[in-house]
Amino acid sequence: MKILVVGGGGREHALVWKLKQSPRVEKIWCAPGNGGIAAEAECVAIDAGDVGAIVAFAEKVHPDLTVVGPELPLVNGLTDAFRQRNWPVVGPSQQAAQLEGSKIFSKEFLERHGIPTAKMYGTYDSPSEVYDALNSVAFPVVIKADGLCAGKGVFLAPDFAAAKDFVQRAMEKDELGPGGKRILLEEALEGEELSFIILTDGKRYAPLVPTRDHKRVFDGNQGPNTGGMGAYSTDELLPDALPETIRSTIVEPTLQGLAADGIPYQGFLYIGLMLTNSGPKVLEFNCRLGDPEAQAILARADFDLGEILGDVAAGRLDPSKLRWKPGASACVVLTSGGYPGRFEGGKRIDGLTSLEQITGVKALHAGTKLVGDTVVTNSGRVLGVTAVGKTLEAALASAYHAVAKIHFEGMHYRKDIGAHASELRAAGH
Ligand code: AMP
Repeated sequence: MKILVVGGGGREHALVWKLKQSPRVEKIWCAPGNGGIAAEAECVAIDAGDVGAIVAFAEKVHPDLTVVGPELPLVNGLTDAFRQRNWPVVGPSQQAAQLEGSKIFSKEFLERHGIPTAKMYGTYDSPSEVYDALNSVAFPVVIKADGLCAGKGVFLAPDFAAAKDFVQRAMEKDELGPGGKRILLEEALEGEELSFIILTDGKRYAPLVPTRDHKRVFDGNQGPNTGGMGAYSTDELLPDALPETIRSTIVEPTLQGLAADGIPYQGFLYIGLMLTNSGPKVLEFNCRLGDPEAQAILARADFDLGEILGDVAAGRLDPSKLRWKPGASACVVLTSGGYPGRFEGGKRIDGLTSLEQITGVKALHAGTKLVGDTVVTNSGRVLGVTAVGKTLEAALASAYHAVAKIHFEGMHYRKDIGAHASELRAAGH
């Protein structure tokens, strides 16, 4: 198989790394890839959101399979362009990707099919309507911008003043771009969050191993939200009857609802859940693998990813083929100093080669590039140091042992990835 992977972050490096281990995979291109992916695939300088350029490239090289990592090409209709040409591709259609691309579409879908989610107060097209509505909601209230806002579109407002400030920035000052022009208000849910990701061919589906990510930039969940500071996976995240409850109350009604609405879904579907006192409820859908959850998940994959993704594209997924390493995995993200605010790129990264000697550890590149032979930082999130272990503690120890060998100017990471897992277990989550 010759495979084209679209994207250039840690998730795509994890996909390339696992695809490369497949005996049936002969060649991998990655558009655009990054400094680490370049060691394992041929990187092609095409923007991941540029549907026309990706189609033109595929026309030239004829991949046997194309795997789309990020949301932007999905929302831009890349898979539709491939399917019109009968080219095998993994990823939902533009319409199905609205589950992520529009929070209002996704909320209305959940309500229409009676799938547990936070209660919606309403959707609004003008700031004055939102200010009126804010007079009759309970605080804290959750405010969501409808469209894609690079992770900045959701705000948990503690009071009216904070809510008004966010709405002003989104709707009046256009700080979130076009995605902030419509607003949704919903009830704030309490509980622990859990990412539940499935892979589906439109008919059958396989749940991937459960993960939990860490969004805040500093230890103890302090500081601003980021694209993800780390993640871990252990089966204990899903104790007892919880997987069955999630499958029967959330996953199956979602897939049936999509089919009933005439929107078949193929690819990865990420379901962000809040485990509330009254059961799991949907916070959000993403139409792709999460990042850095993908790194933690794929590190535990014990199957031929090339075969499985080929099966998905061909509509013949056999869920029993997805086997997982027992134990746990952990991914610690190393960021540029200052991220998610201003930061400088171009810093030389030292110590990467020493990781190659450590078994069970892999440095997955999120934002790096090659300058000559030197790997330098090229983004806010730079590396995801990923490790497996017999237990979560062992996986974390390996990951942090490896992190200690890496250095670049301004490097920052959280020291408490997975640290609360045992407390949560004790609390019954
Ligand atoms: P979303 O992009 O919708 O997942 O929102 C991003 C984050 O905001 C989630 O991961 C939660 O931490 C938080 N969030 C979203 N919706 C709610 C809600 N209804 N109640 C509490 N927190 C929420």
